[in-house]
Amino acid sequence: MTVLSTNSIRVLDIKYGTSVDGVGLRTSIYCAGCENRCVGCHNPQSWDERGGEPIEVEELFRLVEDADMNVTFTGGDPMFHPEGFTRLAQMIKERTRKTIWCYTGYRFEDLMRSESRRALLEKCDVVVDGRYVEAERDLTLHFRGSRNQRIIDVPRSLEAGEVVLVENV
Ligand code: SF4
Repeated sequence: MTVLSTNSIRVLDIKYGTSVDGVGLRTSIYCAGCENRCVGCHNPQSWDERGGEPIEVEELFRLVEDADMNVTFTGGDPMFHPEGFTRLAQMIKERTRKTIWCYTGYRFEDLMRSESRRALLEKCDVVVDGRYVEAERDLTLHFRGSRNQRIIDVPRSLEAGEVVLVENV
């Protein structure tokens, strides 16, 4: 059985109008599949890359467009198998003015070393990076679970050649 396709994304859930996955009200797409296995992960049932239901990228784009909100990719880990999300991000950027946030357990520096992951990174406005670390847990943080995770301004980071954090979040 073929589990993965670059034309589709295995989706666990789509939430419309969420305010916890980035600034403002957003459409959040929760994908299946994560290899990071963070201790204390809030959603271990999302680790199985065969979970969820495959949805064609074109269909996801139509849902995003109809919802007319900015977009968040989360999971699971969208960077685990980034190809479908890269296609979706390309369509969003070519056809709309929506911003894209992406949550990932990989660190920015690791994403930069992977051709396929960097391709998705470069289409995102913001990446929240790093594994969830129980010892660094902090309930007062916005948009992240543990203090080691960083809310990164991707365009400014790529331009600077080093991580630049989003200010005032
Ligand atoms: S990266 Fe996210 S989904 Fe994956 S194990 Fe860590 S907390 Fe869970």
